[in-house]
This record gives sequence, structure tokens and C-alpha cells, in this order.
Amino acid sequence: SIAKFPCVRTLEGFEYDAQPSVDAKQIRELATSRWVANGDSVLLLGPPGVGKTHLAVALGREAIVRGYSTLFVPATSLVTQLARAHAEGRLEEKLIHFTKPKLLVVDELGYLPFEANAAHLFFQLVSRRYERGSMLVTSNRSVAEWGGVFGDAVVATAILDRLLHHSHVITIRGDSYRLRTKRRAGMVT
Ligand code: ADP
Ligand code: MG
Repeated sequence: SIAKFPCVRTLEGFEYDAQPSVDAKQIRELATSRWVANGDSVLLLGPPGVGKTHLAVALGREAIVRGYSTLFVPATSLVTQLARAHAEGRLEEKLIHFTKPKLLVVDELGYLPFEANAAHLFFQLVSRRYERGSMLVTSNRSVAEWGGVFGDAVVATAILDRLLHHSHVITIRGDSYRLRTKRRAGMVT
């Protein structure tokens, strides 16, 4: 199963010491992919550079190793693809494409606000996948801010209602790993 991961990232390569707000035990449990077998969702929340995409790719990789079909898609690409398919009268085909994998990883939700139509299309996808497959969503916005991301509090609530039903929410705090590395090298203060 082709996952289209943007980079190679593993759990072995994740330094827990650098990110004390991440519970190593919880990540090791998620690495078993039992949550994928159960159809649960995972939300990885936190500011830029704290390792959300790293963990998303690494957990996606663990799911593939255990035989679960997995697709990785940046949030902006996902909504662009759905909106285009909708405009071209082939939304159904696209919804099937994104519903098929046992695990769908949606990376970086919230960096760009959604248009009203896009929010509704994303809702349709989440509804389709609900209690069929797992989703892993990373976001730099807290769930309280998702109304703003989707531009519609009602749609945001409906999406969150489904995503949070059987979910593991991991909120990462702290400094960007990228800046931390640069700081150590004396490149920034
Ligand atoms: P985010 O998606 O939260 O913005 P990334 O996952 O892209 O952050 O992390 C930024 C960079 O720092 C990546 O190259 C990632 O592999 C690395 N990184 C972040 N946190 C850690 C960590 N705790 N251990 C090892 N590498 C990390
Ligand atoms: Mg990221």
C-alpha cells in the first residue's frame, strides 16, 4: 500500500527527551496499531516544529508494517482534490478513494482556513470514514479553534463529534525542535 509519506520518519528516530510533553508509553501503545484495528482516531495537536508530522509518518509506517492500508495526504491537498472532484462531478469517486484505506493521515489541518464548501466536503469524508476506518489528523490549532479553521462552527462541531468519539488526543507543547537544534548550534538565540 503506497502511503505517499513526505519524508522518512521512524519512532526509533523520535527523541522523547527533547519533547517531555509526549508520553512515550502512549506512543508505544499507538505503535502497536491496535487503534487502527479498532477504527479509532488520533489527533496530534501543537505548535509548529514539535514533531507532529514526524509522529504521524512514524505511526503511519507502523500501521503499514502491520498490514493496514494507509494513505498520507496534506490537508490542503485533500480539500483541493475534493473541491476539484466536486466541480468536475466526480466527488463520489474521490470520496471512495479517500475512504478505502484503513488509515488516512491528514497532515497540517489549520495552517490555511477552509472555504465553506471545503469544510462541508471534509465533513462528508469524515462521515464516510466514521466507524469504518481510522484517521490521524495533525493540527497546529486546538480543537476549540477548529470553528475558525472550518469557517463554520456547526460543521466543525459535527466533524469533531465524529473524530473525537473513539479518539486519542495528543497535545504537544514546547519549543520547535528545528529551532532547538539551531539554538544549540548558536544560530539563533
Ligand atoms: P510539526 O509537524 O509539528 O511542525 P515536524 O514533525 O515536521 O514538526 O518536526 C520538525 C523537524 O524536527 C522534523 O525534521 C522532525 O523529524 C524533527 N523532530 C521534531 N521533534 C523531534 C523529536 N522529538 N525527536 C527527533 N526529531 C524531531
Ligand atoms: Mg507538520
